[in-house]
Amino acid sequence: MARSLAMNASNPATKLANLDGRAVLLRDGRCIDVEHRSGGKLSSDPMALIADMGALCDWATDVAATDDDAALDEAKLGPCVPMPSQVFAIGLNYRDHAQEASIPIPAKPMVFTKFPSCLAGPRAEVKMKGDTTDYEVELVVVIGRGGVDIAEGDAMAHVAGYCIGQDITDRRMQFSDKPPQFSMGKSLPGFGPIGPAVVALRDIASPQDLAITCDVNGERRQDSRTSKMIFSVPQLVADLSSRCALRSGDLVFTGTTSGVGSLRNPRSYLKAGDEVVSEIEGLGTMVNRVVS
Ligand code: ZN
Repeated sequence: MARSLAMNASNPATKLANLDGRAVLLRDGRCIDVEHRSGGKLSSDPMALIADMGALCDWATDVAATDDDAALDEAKLGPCVPMPSQVFAIGLNYRDHAQEASIPIPAKPMVFTKFPSCLAGPRAEVKMKGDTTDYEVELVVVIGRGGVDIAEGDAMAHVAGYCIGQDITDRRMQFSDKPPQFSMGKSLPGFGPIGPAVVALRDIASPQDLAITCDVNGERRQDSRTSKMIFSVPQLVADLSSRCALRSGDLVFTGTTSGVGSLRNPRSYLKAGDEVVSEIEGLGTMVNRVVS
């Protein structure tokens, strides 16, 4: 068997990415076009597949890359969830981050939004608008099945999978409105790189115990584990759905860890030319260059 290596990989992870607007399965260093390879049984639309990740996972079990599939070049990938209707983000959801900010542990999740127009691919450039641009590496939850008043015990059945996210923030804009509207300082074009792919729920055994790091120009700035989250993924899904109807494809940026530039001493905001590398165990890496 010429392709024995790929065929022997036991239960390879299902990683759904977006190449030129089409859904592709990342496998063996290649991009397998889902609609073509499935003979039209599955959609070419990443948003449609996120609504039924189970079907994608079942199909993907036996799929191996061939020489005909495009070689994976992450620079060509778009946002793995291109058009969510809602993007929630959680403030101060890591103990280490609350500590560095000298703010008491919140009693309930602090929710704000990033507008979907800020989403970008895993290698997209971050174009700064001011000199207070900051990085925040985050685990992003991708909602598969919507709902309201979802019980904590049922929450994971509503999750399609996970990806990495950078909650890029212009700190001055974040706090400039009265009262502050975090959303405006966090939704500039390109301020929401996500990816490289949606990794299916079933392929991440311990979402609450993943290494999460962010390096700037090779210097480790954030280094934590998702076990330090204050509100877990099921708690966040339950809480959000008690206040707002969740929809398939919605994203939840689950908060960042300690080490953000605005809370370092001295402060250390991003500059043109900087390279931001975000990594989460099992989800891969994103590399985003900062430009002025
Ligand atoms: Zn954040």
